[in-house]
Amino acid sequence: MLTILTHGQPTLMATAMPVTQFDEALHALAQQMLHTMQHANGVGIAAPQVNQRLQLFIMASNPNPRYPDAPVMAPQVVINPQIISHSATLLLGDEGCLSLPGERRPILRHETIEVRYQDLSGEWCQERLSGFIARIFQHEYDHLHGITLRERQAMQQETL
Ligand SMILES: [Zn+2]
Repeated sequence: MLTILTHGQPTLMATAMPVTQFDEALHALAQQMLHTMQHANGVGIAAPQVNQRLQLFIMASNPNPRYPDAPVMAPQVVINPQIISHSATLLLGDEGCLSLPGERRPILRHETIEVRYQDLSGEWCQERLSGFIARIFQHEYDHLHGITLRERQAMQQETL
């Protein structure tokens, strides 16, 4: 099990670097992150949360005690992600974060997004995500840019 960093630790506030080596170490890290996330009842986890400044996160929505209404999806490892386009429509929803134990904050996210990323073998994938899955993607994507729920909420309050 990996240690999950909490808010204020430097790696959580840093911009992550692109993954260039799709090797055994990367597979092992993804596996450890998945176990750590599942143990903590998360639906996603980003590498900076386990003190790795890499553009890598896992989305793995499943109903659990923290998110009883979450849709079921197979865990997906997302590497070097880009958000290509997004809907103008924003949806407000309560989000938690494994790095902010016990906190829930109302966060605006795009309803649908078109994304591009590499998988563990380095293959590029492109897909359209919506609803809760799109929300997870945007939350984890923020982590790769040093942004947690606290910063995101502050940013959206400035624009409202
Ligand atoms: Zn988080």
